[in-house]
Amino acid sequence: MGFANDAHSMGWNFDHSYRALPSAFFSEVSPKPGPEPRLVLFNHKLAQELGLTFSAHEESFIAATFCGNILPANSQPIAQAYAGHQFGHFTMLGDGRAILLGEHITPSGKRVDIQLKGAGLTPYSRRGDGKAAIGPMLREYIISEALSALDVPSTRSLAVVTTGESIYRETILKGAMLTRVASSHIRVGTFQYAAALRDKRSLKELADYTITRHYSQLIGSENLYRDFLHAVIERQAALVAQWMLIGFIHGVMNTDNMTLSGESIDYGPCAFLDIYQPKTVYSSIDQHGRYAYQNQPDIAQWNLARFSEALLPLIDDDVDKAITIAEEEIGCFALLFRTYWLEGMRKKLGLFSQEAEDIKLSYALLEWMDRSNADYTHTFRALASENVPQGAIYQDRIFQDWRAQWVARLERNPKPKKSSFCLMNANNPAIIPRNEHVEAALTAANDGLDLSKLRRLLSALEDPYRDDPSFADLQNVSAPSNGCYKTFCGT
Ligand code: AMP
Ligand code: MG
Repeated sequence: MGFANDAHSMGWNFDHSYRALPSAFFSEVSPKPGPEPRLVLFNHKLAQELGLTFSAHEESFIAATFCGNILPANSQPIAQAYAGHQFGHFTMLGDGRAILLGEHITPSGKRVDIQLKGAGLTPYSRRGDGKAAIGPMLREYIISEALSALDVPSTRSLAVVTTGESIYRETILKGAMLTRVASSHIRVGTFQYAAALRDKRSLKELADYTITRHYSQLIGSENLYRDFLHAVIERQAALVAQWMLIGFIHGVMNTDNMTLSGESIDYGPCAFLDIYQPKTVYSSIDQHGRYAYQNQPDIAQWNLARFSEALLPLIDDDVDKAITIAEEEIGCFALLFRTYWLEGMRKKLGLFSQEAEDIKLSYALLEWMDRSNADYTHTFRALASENVPQGAIYQDRIFQDWRAQWVARLERNPKPKKSSFCLMNANNPAIIPRNEHVEAALTAANDGLDLSKLRRLLSALEDPYRDDPSFADLQNVSAPSNGCYKTFCGT
């Protein structure tokens, strides 16, 4: 293609370490170019961080690049194979509609996957069409960028384009592609796939590759694979604790949607809590509430148990011994999760020291929120004040009693209240992507490609710990969405 030099000048710096794995782990496949690429969103800041420069290029060139029409120089597209437990049932999967262009090495030396999602059929498409609709791709863009701005590890979104194709779901929708940037796309399901190959060498190659890429500090360890298991469990415990602390519901915590890097990935029917109700489920496909807000830590542990099963042959040649070790490690999850959660909760409550009763104090507030239908985000944000928060709900006696206890606890802090309030404001967002506003932005973008709401929402979410009065409308909702809000799967 005549664009090859241009593509090079954009700053692409591809490497393809994943392709050194046994060939069973991937298939070579090219993205299917869209007939009429049109750029909807482009993440200039992220592009800059990645060392990509598009300023010299026309929008049509950028659209064509992120619609699979112009392949960046030195890209070598593949679809990755993986398996996974979906709602508890094991299935062979793989990238059915996502194509990895390669690993881009950033100017600071970071290795990131560049993936086009919605890029057409692959050998793993099963009964799917390999395509994606604009709504879910924009939703992934919003949520992944919001989580990242909230300091929660997440895959990132570089661009969304419409392809010019119509795609067929329950209705006819606009086809789109999302460019996803990830530390890697290695999933718990990738290890399940490796285990299903029943070839210890392949499993070992995948494990060694993952350790080199994400856990290089473990190289040389005497109990390498046990330590690897422990480190993966710890990263997931930290991640899910962060989800819980900001009120995020992933919605489809299948094992293929859990990364080894510890980044959140695959935003389908995900959403944030408005009012604090731990049983909240938003996903329309999650009829039994398997992935409800309150179940997320247990599900993470369940997924990690599946990971440990896949890893057994590497942990010890003696199966019984390997199982005992894996069980010990999986047993650590609950305490790790609680430790990370409590550490985060202390920050949310402005506590610099540790007292045994802090956990009770935290639960007491959550219980009150649950009983009173209090807004999770607002309540924490409003606490950081010398005064009782405004609003009828906070005049309640139980809340006031709780607040008195908390104020007494703040007084036993080694630092002044002012420092507590600062800590709280750095850990309790003023704004989250509220379902009502996400939906409004998506509807406008979808109906007539009116992007103004979407762009405004995205800019409000860029700095979520800052209280910006010009975004007050986006901080609030006309009615809380719990119970009635339904999100739909990306397919
Ligand atoms: P997800 O629920 O997005 O994590 O996807 C689960 C699996 O279904 C993955 O293997 C996807 O690649 C595959 N998949 C989802 N949507 C499609 C589609 N439209 N065409 C082909 N495969 C799909
Ligand atoms: Mg997935």
